[in-house]
Amino acid sequence: MSPAAVDVVVAGAGGAGLTAALAAADLGRTVLLVEQRPTFRHDCNTAMSTAMIPAAGSRWQREAGIEDSAETFLADIERKTSGTADATVARALTAVAPELTEWLADRCAVRLELVTDFAYPGHSAHRCHAVPGRSGQTLLRGLLQAVQSHPNITLMVGPRLLDVILRSGQVAAAVLATPDGRQERLATSSVILACNGFAAAAERVRELIPEIADALYCGSPGSVGDALAIGERLGADVACLDSYQGHGSVAVPHGILVTWAVIMNGGIIIDARGARFADEGQGYSEFATNILCQPGSTGWVVFDEGINQACLPFADHQRLNEAGALRWANDSISLASVTGCRPEVLAGTLADAARYAAGQGRDPLSRSHWTRPLCPPYAAIRVTGALFHTQGGLAIDAHARVLRGGRPMPGLFAAGGAAVGISGTGGDGYLAGNGLLAALGLGLLAGRAAGTIVTNPRGL
Ligand SMILES: Cc1cc2nc3c(=O)[nH]c(=O)nc-3n(C[C@H](O)[C@H](O)[C@H](O)COP(=O)(O)OP(=O)(O)OC[C@H]3O[C@@H](n4cnc5c(N)ncnc54)[C@H](O)[C@@H]3O)c2cc1C
Repeated sequence: MSPAAVDVVVAGAGGAGLTAALAAADLGRTVLLVEQRPTFRHDCNTAMSTAMIPAAGSRWQREAGIEDSAETFLADIERKTSGTADATVARALTAVAPELTEWLADRCAVRLELVTDFAYPGHSAHRCHAVPGRSGQTLLRGLLQAVQSHPNITLMVGPRLLDVILRSGQVAAAVLATPDGRQERLATSSVILACNGFAAAAERVRELIPEIADALYCGSPGSVGDALAIGERLGADVACLDSYQGHGSVAVPHGILVTWAVIMNGGIIIDARGARFADEGQGYSEFATNILCQPGSTGWVVFDEGINQACLPFADHQRLNEAGALRWANDSISLASVTGCRPEVLAGTLADAARYAAGQGRDPLSRSHWTRPLCPPYAAIRVTGALFHTQGGLAIDAHARVLRGGRPMPGLFAAGGAAVGISGTGGDGYLAGNGLLAALGLGLLAGRAAGTIVTNPRGL
């Protein structure tokens, strides 16, 4: 049974919703946080993530002597998205990111460390912060503990936000569906939509992002597009609905992410014949469609023991080792035999890659990021291209207020995958960490704004 009225209703207990609930409650507001899936602790996207949170100008960077700034980060986003990212949201998120990381550590006791063992494509500095083990479940657990010990927050698992009622254009109530089939209307002046995007709604993905519709879906089953549907019913503006994060290396048939650190540490990706087919040094998101174009929509990531060791800090990489996903071979002939590639093609590919990595000759596929030649024994993992989450959604302003006709809708907020992100259009604009920064950063901004608006209904 939900309370009769609360200051703020938050829908979705992933990174965006937990952060938003805490931020609003810390301002003294009463918050009802509703989460539809009893399994959210391990199957919301935040729990499934590798917990990389980018922030430029953080105290961890200062301690490591790394010079970086919000402006540099913003310029990286603009470059990666060819200027198609929502400029207001990108500015707001790059500005709040350092404060967000400190808030996570100091307010929520989430232990963070700066990832310096490899560079993600497109980031001009080491600026990804992660929890030890690089597992989203650890991040989610930290936020959840802070939420559950907050006296102002009621967490209800089971109810689903169905709708938002406006009165004279201002949020007046939230409509919840309870697991036993009842509907409840709850008076509130603020609703924060933190229900992620629509990547699990196959027909909407086919309609809005056909290029990735046939990819393996590796995100949360809860991302069914409720925030977008509610916002659209209310006449909200939407933006970048074709934007998404794909991934070019998910192990088949295990469905476990092969971290792009394998590539950035010197790994290569080959097709069924044993030939490279695209520049692996580009982002992992755009590589998804490259691999989906290959016969059988699969290829092989090839690396060595040094790279394997370097990637073990990732919980996913440990799982791949435990699951037996790595096939080892002492030389290129045996590698051809374990992968089914053509021995002469594979031998040529490995020899060419070794030359480029040693700084000899120019890669016709234009890969510029090489580390060192691979050393036998070689490891290979069969991979396919995947869809992780959508990055377009409800249009918002710098306080995460949902817009209608370009103006804020009083009391309605969106954060995380529910809102437009900072990845521009298509699958090429995604930079590592864009998902969680939009979740946690917009959650913080939305929670603070909702908390402020309750005391000051005329706005911020
Ligand atoms: C394998 C993988 C790795 C990733 N790694 C990273 C990374 O390292 N860094 C990064 O930045 N991003 C990463 N991402 C993306 C990142 O996980 C997401 O962008 C981010 O977690 C989205 O957070 P969210 O709170 O919006 O959504 P979620 O964490 O999915 O939470 C949304 C919650 O809302 C609930 N919900 C939905 N509809 C309703 C409703 N109507 N009522 C009530 N509840 C509802 C859902 O059940 C869900 O629990 C990764 C994604 C995947 C799949």
